[in-house]
Amino acid sequence: MNSISNRKPVLAANWKMYKTVSETRDFLNAFLPLVNDLSGRDIIIAPPFTALSAVGELIEDNRLVSLAAQNMYFEQEGGFTGEISSIMLKEFGVKWVILGHSERRHIFGEDDRLIALKVKSALENDMIPILCIGEKLEERESGLTHEILERQLSAGFSEVGSEEAYQVLVAYEPVWAIGTGKTATPDQAQDAHFHIRSWLTSRFNSGIAGQIRILYGGSVKPDNINELMSLSDVDGALVGGASLKPDSFAEIASCRVE
Ligand code: PEP
Repeated sequence: MNSISNRKPVLAANWKMYKTVSETRDFLNAFLPLVNDLSGRDIIIAPPFTALSAVGELIEDNRLVSLAAQNMYFEQEGGFTGEISSIMLKEFGVKWVILGHSERRHIFGEDDRLIALKVKSALENDMIPILCIGEKLEERESGLTHEILERQLSAGFSEVGSEEAYQVLVAYEPVWAIGTGKTATPDQAQDAHFHIRSWLTSRFNSGIAGQIRILYGGSVKPDNINELMSLSDVDGALVGGASLKPDSFAEIASCRVE
């Protein structure tokens, strides 16, 4: 992370569809003492909806660790079977929401417009959106990475005004690196993050772009986190598989951050 920026590093755990309530309690009882002495970073846990309450109770008043949802719908209530809204999430102390994760886009068919409405709804309801973007392998191999990122950014920020843009977090997650064990090289990650920040500069301005935190996601592990965090436009990580074990996520959360 760039030492002259004031972007607070973020280490976020995306548990996907893993962990029952009792497994969640076991995780936190082991994890929280391991990160107790850390400071100068946001540690975020995004459990399945069914475990939000358990995490909320166990981290209550924790100055370091806070709660995210993995998704939400943009309406507040109504006939939307199977969906959940921001007012429901906020009851559990949820502060952040992951939106447009590649599994939502590519398994559940979420499109750019739906994701844009969710980003808008999160901001209107005092939740911080973590907007996920990233190219597929064939898009990278066809030289389309920048174009795909621009399309997803332009849609994701289409309903975001200049006065609120600084609150949004962007997670760059190349689809080919998620859950595959293949991490982007430092050059690939920095190139994509720099491109995202340049796009944000032209869409808003350099002051706003300089405040927006851009996380990297895709097979982040204890042994590659420090190198990723040393890149000037990488402000944190969104971690799937390696966030499921307390020791491994504690090591990632304890990365060097100056
Ligand atoms: C993710 O789910 O956002 C992710 C990056 O997964 P993994 O760390 O397992 O690649």
